[in-house]
Amino acid sequence: MSHVFPRHTKSVLPTVAGGDGCYLIDAEGKRYLDCGDAAVSCLGHSNPAVIKAVQEQVEKIAFAHTGFMTSEPAEALADLLIEHAPGDLDRVYFVSGGSEATEAAIKLARQYFLEMGQPERRRVIARRQSYHGNTLGALSAGGNEWRRAQFAPLLIEMSHIAPCYEYAEKPEGENSFDYGQRVANELEAEILRLGPETVMAFMAEPVVGATLGAVPAVEGYFKRIREICDQYGVLLILDEVMCGMGRTGHLFACDHDGVAPDILCIAKGLGAGYQPIGAMLCSGAIYDAISNGSGFFQHGHTYIGHPVATAAALAVVRELTGRDLPARAGVMGDKLNAALESAFGQHPNVGDIRGRGLFRGIELVADRDSKAPFDPALGLAGKIKKAAVAEGLICYPMSGTRDGRNGDHILLAPPFIIEDAQ
Ligand code: PLP
Repeated sequence: MSHVFPRHTKSVLPTVAGGDGCYLIDAEGKRYLDCGDAAVSCLGHSNPAVIKAVQEQVEKIAFAHTGFMTSEPAEALADLLIEHAPGDLDRVYFVSGGSEATEAAIKLARQYFLEMGQPERRRVIARRQSYHGNTLGALSAGGNEWRRAQFAPLLIEMSHIAPCYEYAEKPEGENSFDYGQRVANELEAEILRLGPETVMAFMAEPVVGATLGAVPAVEGYFKRIREICDQYGVLLILDEVMCGMGRTGHLFACDHDGVAPDILCIAKGLGAGYQPIGAMLCSGAIYDAISNGSGFFQHGHTYIGHPVATAAALAVVRELTGRDLPARAGVMGDKLNAALESAFGQHPNVGDIRGRGLFRGIELVADRDSKAPFDPALGLAGKIKKAAVAEGLICYPMSGTRDGRNGDHILLAPPFIIEDAQ
């Protein structure tokens, strides 16, 4: 009997024993093409440069508390990220994963306004059908009803405006651009409703991952969001935990939208699965407010800036940038999209195929014309996951599209080294 407390207590899982490029191998020797458990593995499972970096760092020093010391890999990784980061992003705060990054972003926004002498700014606006992590602050920002429901009494009050979800929510007769502007303007309406002097931040995923299945915003949406944030002095927090680090074809997903945030959250692809690591990048203005004020960010975890994790991530980002792998994700993503279109484009239960780069979603519908979702009681996502695993495919089927309870999609996020035949 196992003493591990698994997430799904009623299923028996295979034991992973090895990895080979895009494949995971279980203890029985069965191979699984890793098309994105949760969009982590961007370099595959046997990258020699990252493995070497981890080995070398652990032999030097594994841990030193960041309250006392910085480390060479943390410094070099921050420099490299900032060299490629959009806009005014100037400082990197390392954490151990995605939820820690978004949680830290919320707290940084709050402390920034305290340091600026605006203590009344305390409200966060986010979007429905979004996911920002499972810790209580991050879960409060997320708008996925299924994930939130049982913890609702514990969550912080935050506002949720409409997502930019063209396939399901754009009325016929409205053009894409106008639709994007209209839903972006919901942010302005909500800021005005709450009182601009009380709002500190707006948080969104540039491409909505787990909840909607690789849904990018329409053209112009994020530019309008940026304008509104600037007009009311609200910080823009972009959550690229899943869609960032090259997955969409650019190192940072927001580069597609031509906007730069005040705070950017990354994780998953940053460590590529070799180490648990995330990061929050912030503008020089935010950093200066704290540095010139109290001089202390009132937040932290024991493992922030872990030398082995930052050494792994440094090797990952060097691989991504040195080999131009985000561009490869773009090219291979176009091929994957074409293959999905040709295989499933006319399928009566496939409503939409979308995404950017190697971040693709297939939305399943009971009826293509009405776009009606399947009955949630069917538990379609769980069945697809089981069938895929039996065939040796790891992908990420989810129910939760539409209103958080109905609707199903399959998310595909293979490593950037995937080959045509795979
Ligand atoms: N933000 C987004 C957009 C995510 O997709 C996820 C995880 O799927 C998170 C935050 C939380 O990251 P983690 O699971 O590493 O805490």
